[in-house]
Amino acid sequence: MFKVKILGSSSATPAFSRNPSAQVVTYNDRHYLVDCGEGTQIQFQRYNVKLARLDGIFISHLHGDHVLGLPGLLSSLSIFEREKPLPVYAPGGLVEMLKTFFRISETYLKYEVEFFPMEDFQPGDIVFSTDKLRVKALPLTHRAFCRGFLFEEYNKRRKFDFFKAKALEIPNEYFHLLKQENDITLPDGRRIQADEVLMDADAPLSFAYCSDTRYEEKLLPFIQNVSMLYHEATFMEDMQKRARETQHSTAREAASIALQAGAKRLIIGHFSARYRDLNPLLEEARAVFPDTELATEGTEFDLRANV
Ligand SMILES: [Zn+2]
Ligand SMILES: [Zn+2]
Repeated sequence: MFKVKILGSSSATPAFSRNPSAQVVTYNDRHYLVDCGEGTQIQFQRYNVKLARLDGIFISHLHGDHVLGLPGLLSSLSIFEREKPLPVYAPGGLVEMLKTFFRISETYLKYEVEFFPMEDFQPGDIVFSTDKLRVKALPLTHRAFCRGFLFEEYNKRRKFDFFKAKALEIPNEYFHLLKQENDITLPDGRRIQADEVLMDADAPLSFAYCSDTRYEEKLLPFIQNVSMLYHEATFMEDMQKRARETQHSTAREAASIALQAGAKRLIIGHFSARYRDLNPLLEEARAVFPDTELATEGTEFDLRANV
């Protein structure tokens, strides 16, 4: 399983039932929160995501619409008796923000927050990994220090051809050895090469989270051929001047980045409160990159779909 659920897609302030930025990336049975705008823990309840199951938090930058939900969410985890340490990847200033808040509010967490300052990583560096998924830092250009995150599969196992193994009359107890690419000798003396029953692995899937940023071509080498790109589209093209001033992107620019990166799919979000109807932004992006969808609250995008 490799899915992304949108919990918030608004920029700056909540607007038209849209919450500030937050997404949950689920990979197999692990859940990672990316950005945590105000009200994110309520969105967890609304869209049926279990807060207690969080395995890590990634914060792009310290503007309020990406981080104001964090003190409450971390406090709730403590009230829910979390004991497992929680890794948090974020700009260094977050430690001071949280310490001040927790000190003055006399909040004592019952679990450890393992804090990793993003300033310690260069763009392209691996900041986090399990045996199958890793997360790399992406260079974004914004008013504040800001990093995107690339979640990518790696180390993918070749697929076991069960029917071929059955046809070769290989006993089941040898399957696990073959799956681990070991050649085997059967009791009847036959030698079976792992290559005979292993097929090519599926292409690795990847998801890039890019918010907040102005149009930035230096991002392109880091997200080439990404399976799904989330790119902010705060404004439409007629507001390009405003986008420049505030270091945000237009829907057309987001689509242009997706096109140049060879992305398979584009999700746009971080919409300005000036837009009640988001369809014009969608149309603007689709004119450049047809496979674009809107990040709307509660929508879950499955990276394995359309593979
Ligand atoms: Zn923002
Ligand atoms: Zn921002």
